[in-house]
Amino acid sequence: MTLPQTPDNASRALAPTSEPRDIAIVGGGPVGLTLAARLLRTTAWRITLIDAATPARAARDPRAIALSHGSRQLLEQIGAWPVPMQTIEHIHISQRGRFGHVKLHHDDYDVPALGYVVRYGDLCQALERALARAAEAAPGRLERVFETRIDEVTQPKVTQPKVTQPKDQDGGIVRLDGTSHNDHDGLPVAFAARIAVQAEGGLFHQQMRRHAGVGQGDGGRRRDYGQTAIIGHVTASRAMPGWAWERFTEEGPLALLPHEDHGTPGYALVWCCAPDAATRRLALSEADFARELGEAFGTRLGTFTLHGKRHAFPLGLNAAPVTVDGRIVAVGNAAQTLHPVAGQGLNLGLRDAFALADSLRASCTPQALQAFAARHRVDRAVTIGVTDLLPRVFGVGGPLAAHARGAALAALSCVAPLKHAVARQMMYGVRR
Ligand SMILES: Cc1cc2nc3c(=O)[nH]c(=O)nc-3n(C[C@H](O)[C@H](O)[C@H](O)COP(=O)(O)OP(=O)(O)OC[C@H]3O[C@@H](n4cnc5c(N)ncnc54)[C@H](O)[C@@H]3O)c2cc1C
Repeated sequence: MTLPQTPDNASRALAPTSEPRDIAIVGGGPVGLTLAARLLRTTAWRITLIDAATPARAARDPRAIALSHGSRQLLEQIGAWPVPMQTIEHIHISQRGRFGHVKLHHDDYDVPALGYVVRYGDLCQALERALARAAEAAPGRLERVFETRIDEVTQPKVTQPKVTQPKDQDGGIVRLDGTSHNDHDGLPVAFAARIAVQAEGGLFHQQMRRHAGVGQGDGGRRRDYGQTAIIGHVTASRAMPGWAWERFTEEGPLALLPHEDHGTPGYALVWCCAPDAATRRLALSEADFARELGEAFGTRLGTFTLHGKRHAFPLGLNAAPVTVDGRIVAVGNAAQTLHPVAGQGLNLGLRDAFALADSLRASCTPQALQAFAARHRVDRAVTIGVTDLLPRVFGVGGPLAAHARGAALAALSCVAPLKHAVARQMMYGVRR
């Protein structure tokens, strides 16, 4: 079967065929794109990549994302680096108004930078180019489908294969149903695949999960942190290039990441606070907002000026207990949506994509998906655990708790092996 290629990113509808696709990826965000590019480079499978939107829409997303050095290494392997970025050479972690802090420096770890701050849209464009190049080198193996929303992913009830049956010949398929808005006004689409990967981000996965079974049952980690993140771009009168700041305040963590927005060098702000405080701050004038930010952060960077719009995101942990069900697997934000503290969400998602692609090298089967889940379990659990623990530990009020946290930060700063372990986890996750 010859599938259409889209190196120019033209919109395509599903090619009519009675054959099941090998691997259908639902969601062409950074994780879906990374997975598709890696699969084209390292396996022989035919990939169908479906997105509800278009690459042009993703390219406009201005959100600032901190990528670790380890993520840069992964992106390099699929030809999606460089991306326009600001480097994080030093990280300063502290508590507002309390003793104890930790400083991390890139030269302690022999890396050019601890991390990089990129625009989501720029990253998606770099991944689109890398995917187009991979597709050119693997003719007939990539089918792109835009403006098509998948609403249901279903599979026949999984039965235990007979002992005598070869492992990759259980004949199973997954059915994907959705709606195409591509040249049509809501045309239903349906097709089959041997493996379906849910990479559709956090917004819709609960709805699809109800049908698919992935992530259902007890043991998932869900938490409403009672916090909202205010996102914006600010400049500082005494900026320190190359430094990123994570400051734990009584309301929640406040991060400033070196970032350039429309040619204005400054900081991407992620300010986590109580929802009513966030609502009030969003309504403040730019000058009053900047002044309150200065009061919350302290005077180290001088005074702040706000540029452009502020946005608010409610924060919660939503991690599926299992990411694999038969022939269906979830990766990226579809598998886990994390608190933004320490900026780990996409970094873990990229590792999901690589671990899955590597597990699918030899066969396109439920067993390969189980191998992925087993191999990736520790990295996923540790990353989710750390990002869940930090906002809760630093959210406990009272002088005693604050004192204990100060002591912990001071210990972390003094005990080099502990500090290096934390830095390595943030840069690379758990490597196996
Ligand atoms: C404000 C903010 C700041 C962040 N900062 C950081 C950071 O500093 N570091 C970090 O590592 N992470 C960060 N994150 C998290 C990061 O953005 C996510 O982890 C990442 O976007 C997940 O990528 P994804 O491809 O899994 O999902 P998404 O980026 O959500 O992409 C999902 C794709 O699926 C498509 N889609 C959705 N539903 C369907 C459907 N039903 N059918 C077909 N297609 C569908 C969408 O159009 C989209 O293209 C941040 C998130 C936010 C909101």
